Amino acid sequence: MKRYELHSHTDFSDGKSSIEEMINMAREMNSAIAITDHFIGDEFFINKILHPNMSSLDSFLNRRKKFREKFKISDDVIFGIEITRINPKRIPEIAKAAKKLDFIVLVHGETSSDKVPAGTNTAALNCEYVDVLAHPGHLSEEEALKAKENKIFIEITARKMHKSENPEIAKICKKFNLEMVIDTDAHSAGELIDYRSAKKTGSDAGLSEDEVWKTNENAKEIFKKYLI
Ligand SMILES: [Zn+2]
Ligand SMILES: [Zn+2]
Repeated sequence: MKRYELHSHTDFSDGKSSIEEMINMAREMNSAIAITDHFIGDEFFINKILHPNMSSLDSFLNRRKKFREKFKISDDVIFGIEITRINPKRIPEIAKAAKKLDFIVLVHGETSSDKVPAGTNTAALNCEYVDVLAHPGHLSEEEALKAKENKIFIEITARKMHKSENPEIAKICKKFNLEMVIDTDAHSAGELIDYRSAKKTGSDAGLSEDEVWKTNENAKEIFKKYLI
């Protein structure tokens, strides 16, 4: 079964593998892949100096253009951003701008193992331009209702450092009938997974085989929106 991976990092941000290595590995595993490096914004002067790639949407745009030409990328690679550690008030403006450029938009949620500003989950779930809330850590009932209203997909993660929070997240998603996706959040090619392995992540989170299948259908649906 073909997998749809919506969350991955390359050496453009803090990943260890090049974009070529990520794409080649995904293809080997019969997986389509979204390249979603961290976007940390330009709020601080130091970000612009130390992390020019991760501070401007223009750099993401230029890279997409370059790689689309170089690889003749077809229907198995899309590009996006993971909004990371940004002042929650700025999430709507950034998400909207990224969406206009046809980038899939993830927000780095409030997992307890990699802290982001409090209020990030709520800001993300209130924003219609966000596609996926990654590793949210915890979701209140109010936040769950917002996710439903704005049709935002909630991530079940295969990443070791965030995994223990999956069962609680899956439970509230099922209670409120929210749509989930299973992502690797891979920071190297070796962390990408195939469908079989995604099934294991899903079952560890308390999902049935049918529910895992639905997460992949959800990812496929989002993926197709961003094929350009
Ligand atoms: Zn990272
Ligand atoms: Zn990530």
